Amino acid sequence: MNLLDKKVLLAPGPVPVPPQALLAMAKPVIHHRLPEFSAILNKIREDLKYLFQTTKDVLFFASSGTGAMEACVANLFKPKEKVIVVRGGKFGERWGELAETYGLNPIYIDVTWGEAVSLETVKKTLEENPDARGLLIQAHETSTGVKHPVAEIAALTRNTEVLLVVDAISALGVYPLPFDELGIDAMVAGSQKSLALPPGLSFVALSDKAWQRVEENNESPRYYFDFRKEKKALAKETTAFTPAVSLLYGLSEILNRIKEVGLPSLFAHYKRLSEACRAGVKALGLELFAKTPCEALTIIKVPEGVDGLKLMKLMREKYQVTMAGGQAKLKGKVVRIAHLGYQGPLDVIVALATFEMALTELGYKIPLGAGVAAAQKYFLETEEE
Ligand SMILES: *Cc1c(COP(=O)(O)O)cnc(C)c1O
Repeated sequence: MNLLDKKVLLAPGPVPVPPQALLAMAKPVIHHRLPEFSAILNKIREDLKYLFQTTKDVLFFASSGTGAMEACVANLFKPKEKVIVVRGGKFGERWGELAETYGLNPIYIDVTWGEAVSLETVKKTLEENPDARGLLIQAHETSTGVKHPVAEIAALTRNTEVLLVVDAISALGVYPLPFDELGIDAMVAGSQKSLALPPGLSFVALSDKAWQRVEENNESPRYYFDFRKEKKALAKETTAFTPAVSLLYGLSEILNRIKEVGLPSLFAHYKRLSEACRAGVKALGLELFAKTPCEALTIIKVPEGVDGLKLMKLMREKYQVTMAGGQAKLKGKVVRIAHLGYQGPLDVIVALATFEMALTELGYKIPLGAGVAAAQKYFLETEEE
Protein backbone atom coordinates (compact mmCIF):
# COMPACT_ATOMS: atom_id res chain seq x y z
CA MET A 1 0.00 0.00 0.00
CA ASN A 2 1.18 3.47 -0.89
CA LEU A 3 0.42 6.19 1.66
CA LEU A 4 -0.47 8.56 -1.17
CA ASP A 5 -3.03 6.18 -2.50
CA LYS A 6 -6.29 6.89 -0.63
CA LYS A 7 -9.05 5.36 -2.72
CA VAL A 8 -12.78 5.95 -2.43
CA LEU A 9 -15.29 3.44 -3.75
CA LEU A 10 -18.64 4.99 -4.73
CA ALA A 11 -19.83 2.47 -7.33
CA PRO A 12 -23.17 0.60 -7.16
CA GLY A 13 -21.41 -2.59 -6.14
CA PRO A 14 -19.05 -3.55 -4.80
CA VAL A 15 -19.36 -1.06 -1.96
CA PRO A 16 -17.29 0.00 1.07
CA VAL A 17 -17.41 -2.55 3.90
CA PRO A 18 -17.42 -1.33 7.52
CA PRO A 19 -14.38 -2.28 9.62
CA GLN A 20 -16.48 -4.31 12.09
CA ALA A 21 -17.55 -6.60 9.24
CA LEU A 22 -13.99 -6.84 7.86
CA LEU A 23 -12.74 -7.85 11.31
CA ALA A 24 -15.55 -10.38 11.75
CA MET A 25 -14.55 -12.00 8.44
CA ALA A 26 -10.94 -12.36 9.62
CA LYS A 27 -11.99 -14.88 12.30
CA PRO A 28 -10.75 -18.47 11.91
CA VAL A 29 -12.91 -20.58 9.61
CA ILE A 30 -14.97 -23.23 11.38
CA HIS A 31 -16.39 -26.46 10.01
CA HIS A 32 -19.93 -26.10 8.74
CA ARG A 33 -21.22 -29.41 10.12
CA LEU A 34 -20.58 -28.46 13.75
CA PRO A 35 -23.16 -27.21 16.28
CA GLU A 36 -21.11 -24.02 16.48
CA PHE A 37 -21.98 -23.28 12.85
CA SER A 38 -25.66 -24.15 13.35
CA ALA A 39 -25.84 -21.55 16.12
CA ILE A 40 -24.51 -18.83 13.77
CA LEU A 41 -26.77 -20.04 10.98
CA ASN A 42 -29.89 -19.94 13.15
CA LYS A 43 -29.15 -16.38 14.25
CA ILE A 44 -28.63 -15.31 10.62
CA ARG A 45 -31.91 -17.01 9.61
CA GLU A 46 -33.86 -14.99 12.15
CA ASP A 47 -32.14 -11.72 11.25
CA LEU A 48 -32.68 -12.24 7.51
CA LYS A 49 -36.42 -12.54 8.21
CA TYR A 50 -36.27 -9.11 9.84
CA LEU A 51 -34.39 -7.63 6.90
CA PHE A 52 -36.69 -9.09 4.23
CA GLN A 53 -39.78 -8.45 6.41
CA THR A 54 -40.97 -12.03 6.08
CA THR A 55 -41.85 -14.86 8.47
CA LYS A 56 -40.31 -17.52 6.24
CA ASP A 57 -36.71 -18.64 5.82
CA VAL A 58 -34.60 -16.72 3.30
CA LEU A 59 -32.30 -18.99 1.26
CA PHE A 60 -28.73 -17.98 0.47
CA PHE A 61 -26.07 -19.17 -1.94
CA ALA A 62 -22.34 -18.68 -2.47
CA SER A 63 -22.65 -16.64 -5.65
CA SER A 64 -23.06 -13.11 -6.89
CA GLY A 65 -26.64 -11.81 -7.17
CA THR A 66 -27.07 -13.21 -10.67
CA GLY A 67 -26.81 -16.73 -9.22
CA ALA A 68 -29.98 -16.16 -7.20
CA MET A 69 -31.70 -14.66 -10.27
CA GLU A 70 -30.84 -17.81 -12.22
CA ALA A 71 -32.00 -19.95 -9.29
CA CYS A 72 -35.42 -18.24 -9.38
CA VAL A 73 -35.83 -18.89 -13.10
CA ALA A 74 -34.74 -22.54 -12.73
CA ASN A 75 -36.81 -23.34 -9.64
CA LEU A 76 -40.02 -21.42 -10.21
CA PHE A 77 -40.76 -22.08 -13.88
CA LYS A 78 -40.83 -24.98 -16.32
CA PRO A 79 -39.59 -24.91 -19.90
CA LYS A 80 -42.17 -23.32 -22.28
CA GLU A 81 -44.01 -21.53 -19.47
CA LYS A 82 -44.93 -17.97 -20.24
CA VAL A 83 -43.38 -15.19 -18.14
CA ILE A 84 -43.70 -11.42 -18.50
CA VAL A 85 -40.35 -9.65 -18.36
CA VAL A 86 -40.03 -5.91 -17.73
CA ARG A 87 -37.02 -4.80 -19.76
CA GLY A 88 -35.99 -1.23 -19.03
CA GLY A 89 -32.23 -1.59 -18.65
CA LYS A 90 -29.31 -3.97 -18.39
CA PHE A 91 -30.74 -6.02 -15.53
CA GLY A 92 -34.19 -6.38 -17.07
CA GLU A 93 -32.36 -7.73 -20.12
CA ARG A 94 -30.67 -10.21 -17.81
CA TRP A 95 -34.04 -11.60 -16.67
CA GLY A 96 -34.90 -12.06 -20.35
CA GLU A 97 -31.61 -13.82 -21.13
CA LEU A 98 -32.11 -16.16 -18.17
CA ALA A 99 -35.71 -16.93 -19.20
CA GLU A 100 -34.54 -17.74 -22.73
CA THR A 101 -31.63 -19.86 -21.44
CA TYR A 102 -34.07 -22.02 -19.46
CA GLY A 103 -36.43 -22.40 -22.41
CA LEU A 104 -39.27 -20.30 -20.98
CA ASN A 105 -41.52 -18.23 -23.19
CA PRO A 106 -40.80 -14.60 -22.25
CA ILE A 107 -43.22 -11.83 -23.21
CA TYR A 108 -41.35 -8.54 -23.07
CA ILE A 109 -42.53 -5.18 -21.82
CA ASP A 110 -39.86 -2.93 -23.28
CA VAL A 111 -39.48 0.30 -21.38
CA THR A 112 -37.48 3.33 -22.53
CA TRP A 113 -34.25 3.47 -20.52
CA GLY A 114 -34.68 6.13 -17.84
CA GLU A 115 -38.41 5.57 -17.39
CA ALA A 116 -40.40 3.35 -15.06
CA VAL A 117 -42.76 0.72 -16.43
CA SER A 118 -46.32 2.03 -16.69
CA LEU A 119 -48.79 0.31 -14.40
CA GLU A 120 -51.39 0.45 -17.20
CA THR A 121 -49.10 -1.49 -19.53
CA VAL A 122 -48.44 -4.11 -16.87
CA LYS A 123 -52.18 -4.46 -16.27
CA LYS A 124 -52.92 -4.77 -19.98
CA THR A 125 -50.12 -7.30 -20.55
CA LEU A 126 -51.40 -9.43 -17.65
CA GLU A 127 -54.92 -9.32 -19.11
CA GLU A 128 -53.70 -10.23 -22.59
CA ASN A 129 -51.68 -13.14 -21.24
CA PRO A 130 -53.92 -15.01 -18.81
CA ASP A 131 -51.61 -18.03 -19.15
CA ALA A 132 -48.57 -16.11 -17.83
CA ARG A 133 -47.03 -17.85 -14.81
CA GLY A 134 -44.64 -15.13 -13.72
CA LEU A 135 -43.64 -11.49 -13.91
CA LEU A 136 -39.94 -10.68 -13.62
CA ILE A 137 -38.88 -7.16 -12.70
CA GLN A 138 -36.28 -5.06 -10.86
CA ALA A 139 -37.24 -3.03 -7.76
CA HIS A 140 -35.09 -0.46 -9.48
CA GLU A 141 -32.85 -0.72 -12.52
CA THR A 142 -29.29 -0.10 -11.34
CA SER A 143 -28.31 0.69 -14.93
CA THR A 144 -30.78 3.59 -15.22
CA GLY A 145 -31.50 4.50 -11.57
CA VAL A 146 -35.23 4.10 -12.16
CA LYS A 147 -37.58 2.76 -9.49
CA HIS A 148 -40.44 0.60 -10.75
CA PRO A 149 -43.87 0.61 -9.01
CA VAL A 150 -43.40 -2.79 -7.37
CA ALA A 151 -46.01 -2.33 -4.62
CA GLU A 152 -48.69 -1.47 -7.18
CA ILE A 153 -47.69 -4.38 -9.43
CA ALA A 154 -47.79 -6.73 -6.43
CA ALA A 155 -51.40 -5.69 -5.86
CA LEU A 156 -52.16 -6.91 -9.42
CA THR A 157 -50.40 -10.29 -9.15
CA ARG A 158 -51.21 -11.06 -5.54
CA ASN A 159 -54.20 -13.40 -5.83
CA THR A 160 -53.42 -14.74 -9.29
CA GLU A 161 -51.37 -17.57 -10.79
CA VAL A 162 -48.62 -15.09 -11.64
CA LEU A 163 -45.51 -15.24 -9.47
CA LEU A 164 -44.02 -11.79 -8.92
CA VAL A 165 -40.23 -12.15 -8.94
CA VAL A 166 -38.36 -9.02 -7.86
CA ASP A 167 -34.65 -8.39 -8.33
CA ALA A 168 -33.86 -6.26 -5.26
CA ILE A 169 -30.11 -6.83 -5.50
CA SER A 170 -29.30 -3.18 -4.90
CA ALA A 171 -32.62 -2.26 -3.21
CA LEU A 172 -33.03 -4.49 -0.17
CA GLY A 173 -32.41 -2.44 2.97
CA VAL A 174 -32.30 0.86 1.05
CA TYR A 175 -36.04 1.59 0.88
CA PRO A 176 -39.14 -0.30 2.05
CA LEU A 177 -40.00 -3.52 0.19
CA PRO A 178 -41.93 -5.44 2.86
CA PHE A 179 -41.98 -8.91 1.32
CA ASP A 180 -44.94 -10.52 3.12
CA GLU A 181 -47.04 -7.38 3.32
CA LEU A 182 -46.76 -6.58 -0.40
CA GLY A 183 -47.30 -10.19 -1.44
CA ILE A 184 -44.14 -10.53 -3.48
CA ASP A 185 -43.42 -14.17 -4.41
CA ALA A 186 -39.64 -14.19 -4.80
CA MET A 187 -37.13 -11.47 -3.98
CA VAL A 188 -33.44 -11.60 -4.74
CA ALA A 189 -30.58 -9.73 -3.04
CA GLY A 190 -26.78 -9.75 -3.06
CA SER A 191 -24.10 -9.10 -0.46
CA GLN A 192 -21.99 -6.50 -2.30
CA LYS A 193 -24.67 -3.83 -2.75
CA SER A 194 -26.91 -2.63 0.06
CA LEU A 195 -25.59 -5.18 2.56
CA ALA A 196 -22.16 -3.53 2.77
CA LEU A 197 -20.27 -6.81 2.39
CA PRO A 198 -17.81 -8.15 -0.18
CA PRO A 199 -19.27 -9.95 -3.22
CA GLY A 200 -20.10 -13.63 -2.88
CA LEU A 201 -23.48 -14.13 -1.19
CA SER A 202 -26.89 -14.09 -2.85
CA PHE A 203 -30.30 -14.37 -1.20
CA VAL A 204 -33.85 -15.40 -2.13
CA ALA A 205 -37.04 -14.95 -0.11
CA LEU A 206 -40.01 -17.05 -1.24
CA SER A 207 -43.77 -16.97 -0.64
CA ASP A 208 -45.96 -20.04 -0.05
CA LYS A 209 -47.25 -19.65 -3.61
CA ALA A 210 -43.66 -19.74 -4.87
CA TRP A 211 -42.78 -22.79 -2.75
CA GLN A 212 -45.76 -24.66 -4.17
CA ARG A 213 -44.41 -24.00 -7.68
CA VAL A 214 -40.92 -25.11 -6.63
CA GLU A 215 -42.27 -28.44 -5.31
CA GLU A 216 -44.32 -29.05 -8.48
CA ASN A 217 -41.48 -28.29 -10.85
CA ASN A 218 -39.51 -31.40 -11.79
CA GLU A 219 -38.71 -30.38 -15.33
CA SER A 220 -36.21 -27.55 -15.09
CA PRO A 221 -32.63 -28.73 -14.58
CA ARG A 222 -30.78 -27.46 -11.49
CA TYR A 223 -28.28 -28.88 -9.08
CA TYR A 224 -26.41 -26.43 -6.81
CA PHE A 225 -29.16 -23.83 -7.06
CA ASP A 226 -31.92 -26.20 -5.97
CA PHE A 227 -34.27 -24.51 -3.51
CA ARG A 228 -35.58 -27.90 -2.34
CA LYS A 229 -32.11 -29.02 -1.22
CA GLU A 230 -31.55 -25.82 0.76
CA LYS A 231 -34.95 -26.04 2.44
CA LYS A 232 -34.23 -29.61 3.56
CA ALA A 233 -30.79 -28.62 4.83
CA LEU A 234 -32.11 -25.62 6.77
CA ALA A 235 -34.60 -27.90 8.52
CA LYS A 236 -31.51 -29.72 9.83
CA GLU A 237 -29.86 -26.42 10.79
CA THR A 238 -27.20 -26.57 8.11
CA THR A 239 -26.72 -25.78 4.41
CA ALA A 240 -26.79 -28.23 1.49
CA PHE A 241 -23.21 -27.47 0.41
CA THR A 242 -20.15 -25.82 1.97
CA PRO A 243 -21.29 -22.29 2.81
CA ALA A 244 -19.15 -19.15 2.44
CA VAL A 245 -18.34 -19.28 6.18
CA SER A 246 -16.24 -16.11 6.34
CA LEU A 247 -18.83 -14.06 4.47
CA LEU A 248 -21.48 -15.37 6.85
CA TYR A 249 -19.46 -14.03 9.79
CA GLY A 250 -19.54 -10.66 8.06
CA LEU A 251 -23.25 -11.02 7.32
CA SER A 252 -23.98 -11.83 10.95
CA GLU A 253 -22.18 -8.64 11.99
CA ILE A 254 -24.02 -6.51 9.40
CA LEU A 255 -27.40 -7.96 10.37
CA ASN A 256 -26.66 -7.15 14.03
CA ARG A 257 -25.97 -3.54 13.04
CA ILE A 258 -29.11 -3.37 10.91
CA LYS A 259 -31.25 -4.62 13.80
CA GLU A 260 -29.57 -2.16 16.12
CA VAL A 261 -30.39 0.90 14.01
CA GLY A 262 -33.68 -0.52 12.70
CA LEU A 263 -35.00 -0.55 9.15
CA PRO A 264 -36.82 2.83 9.35
CA SER A 265 -33.57 4.64 10.24
CA LEU A 266 -31.69 2.78 7.55
CA PHE A 267 -34.27 3.81 4.93
CA ALA A 268 -34.20 7.43 6.16
CA HIS A 269 -30.39 7.46 5.92
CA TYR A 270 -30.25 6.42 2.26
CA LYS A 271 -33.12 8.76 1.40
CA ARG A 272 -31.14 11.63 2.88
CA LEU A 273 -27.95 10.75 0.98
CA SER A 274 -29.77 10.48 -2.34
CA GLU A 275 -31.77 13.69 -1.84
CA ALA A 276 -28.65 15.65 -0.92
CA CYS A 277 -26.85 14.33 -3.99
CA ARG A 278 -29.74 15.30 -6.24
CA ALA A 279 -29.86 18.77 -4.72
CA GLY A 280 -26.18 19.08 -5.62
CA VAL A 281 -26.71 17.98 -9.21
CA LYS A 282 -29.57 20.46 -9.60
CA ALA A 283 -27.47 23.31 -8.22
CA LEU A 284 -24.84 22.56 -10.87
CA GLY A 285 -27.50 22.96 -13.55
CA LEU A 286 -27.06 19.34 -14.65
CA GLU A 287 -29.68 16.71 -15.45
CA LEU A 288 -30.60 13.45 -13.73
CA PHE A 289 -31.07 10.45 -15.99
CA ALA A 290 -33.94 8.72 -14.11
CA LYS A 291 -37.49 10.09 -14.28
CA THR A 292 -38.44 8.29 -11.05
CA PRO A 293 -35.10 7.99 -9.24
CA CYS A 294 -34.42 5.42 -6.52
CA GLU A 295 -32.53 6.06 -3.28
CA ALA A 296 -29.68 3.64 -4.04
CA LEU A 297 -27.89 5.71 -6.64
CA THR A 298 -27.89 9.01 -8.49
CA ILE A 299 -27.33 8.99 -12.23
CA ILE A 300 -26.17 12.21 -13.84
CA LYS A 301 -26.25 12.83 -17.59
CA VAL A 302 -22.77 13.73 -18.85
CA PRO A 303 -23.20 17.26 -20.23
CA GLU A 304 -23.01 17.91 -23.96
CA GLY A 305 -19.43 18.31 -25.20
CA VAL A 306 -17.82 16.34 -22.36
CA ASP A 307 -16.17 12.99 -23.06
CA GLY A 308 -17.81 10.72 -20.48
CA LEU A 309 -15.10 8.08 -20.62
CA LYS A 310 -12.38 10.68 -20.06
CA LEU A 311 -14.36 12.07 -17.14
CA MET A 312 -14.60 8.65 -15.44
CA LYS A 313 -10.89 7.99 -16.03
CA LEU A 314 -9.89 11.35 -14.56
CA MET A 315 -11.97 10.81 -11.42
CA ARG A 316 -10.65 7.28 -11.03
CA GLU A 317 -6.97 7.86 -11.77
CA LYS A 318 -6.26 11.39 -10.58
CA TYR A 319 -8.73 11.68 -7.72
CA GLN A 320 -8.82 7.94 -6.85
CA VAL A 321 -12.61 8.02 -6.66
CA THR A 322 -14.37 5.14 -8.36
CA MET A 323 -17.93 5.84 -9.44
CA ALA A 324 -19.56 3.88 -12.25
CA GLY A 325 -20.08 4.93 -15.83
CA GLY A 326 -22.97 3.91 -18.05
CA GLN A 327 -23.59 0.34 -19.15
CA ALA A 328 -24.32 -0.82 -22.71
CA LYS A 329 -25.99 2.01 -24.67
CA LEU A 330 -25.34 4.45 -21.81
CA LYS A 331 -21.56 3.96 -21.98
CA GLY A 332 -19.87 7.38 -21.77
CA LYS A 333 -23.23 9.12 -21.37
CA VAL A 334 -23.88 8.98 -17.62
CA VAL A 335 -22.10 8.94 -14.27
CA ARG A 336 -23.53 6.69 -11.57
CA ILE A 337 -22.91 7.65 -7.93
CA ALA A 338 -24.00 5.00 -5.44
CA HIS A 339 -25.47 5.62 -2.01
CA LEU A 340 -24.98 2.03 -0.98
CA GLY A 341 -23.18 0.14 1.74
CA TYR A 342 -21.02 1.82 4.36
CA GLN A 343 -21.56 5.45 3.38
CA GLY A 344 -22.36 8.68 5.14
CA PRO A 345 -23.14 12.31 4.18
CA LEU A 346 -19.50 13.14 3.55
CA ASP A 347 -19.30 10.49 0.84
CA VAL A 348 -21.91 12.49 -1.08
CA ILE A 349 -19.74 15.59 -0.63
CA VAL A 350 -16.69 13.68 -1.91
CA ALA A 351 -18.65 12.48 -4.93
CA LEU A 352 -19.91 15.94 -5.86
CA ALA A 353 -16.55 17.63 -5.20
CA THR A 354 -14.73 15.11 -7.39
CA PHE A 355 -17.31 15.41 -10.13
CA GLU A 356 -17.12 19.23 -10.09
CA MET A 357 -13.32 19.29 -10.18
CA ALA A 358 -13.07 16.78 -13.00
CA LEU A 359 -15.70 18.59 -15.10
CA THR A 360 -13.90 21.88 -14.58
CA GLU A 361 -10.59 20.31 -15.53
CA LEU A 362 -12.14 19.06 -18.77
CA GLY A 363 -13.10 22.63 -19.61
CA TYR A 364 -16.81 22.43 -18.83
CA LYS A 365 -18.16 25.55 -17.12
CA ILE A 366 -20.01 24.93 -13.86
CA PRO A 367 -20.29 27.09 -10.74
CA LEU A 368 -17.45 25.33 -8.88
CA GLY A 369 -18.55 24.38 -5.37
CA ALA A 370 -22.25 24.95 -6.00
CA GLY A 371 -23.11 21.24 -5.90
CA VAL A 372 -21.16 20.70 -2.71
CA ALA A 373 -22.77 23.77 -1.11
CA ALA A 374 -26.28 22.61 -1.98
CA ALA A 375 -25.62 19.18 -0.48
CA GLN A 376 -24.08 20.75 2.65
CA LYS A 377 -27.11 22.97 3.00
CA TYR A 378 -29.43 19.98 2.62
CA PHE A 379 -27.57 18.05 5.33
CA LEU A 380 -27.55 21.05 7.68
CA GLU A 381 -31.26 21.59 7.25
CA THR A 382 -32.39 17.98 7.61
CA GLU A 383 -31.85 15.87 10.70
CA GLU A 384 -30.65 12.28 10.72
CA GLU A 385 -33.54 10.32 12.28
C1 LIG B 1 -25.74 -5.59 -9.42
C2 LIG B 1 -27.05 -6.01 -9.90
C3 LIG B 1 -27.25 -7.27 -10.49
C4 LIG B 1 -26.12 -8.22 -10.75
O1 LIG B 1 -25.63 -8.73 -9.58
P1 LIG B 1 -24.23 -9.49 -9.53
O2 LIG B 1 -24.03 -9.59 -8.05
O3 LIG B 1 -23.22 -8.65 -10.22
O4 LIG B 1 -24.42 -10.81 -10.15
C5 LIG B 1 -28.51 -7.60 -10.91
N1 LIG B 1 -29.55 -6.76 -10.74
C6 LIG B 1 -29.40 -5.55 -10.18
C7 LIG B 1 -30.60 -4.66 -10.05
C8 LIG B 1 -28.16 -5.13 -9.73
O5 LIG B 1 -28.01 -3.93 -9.16
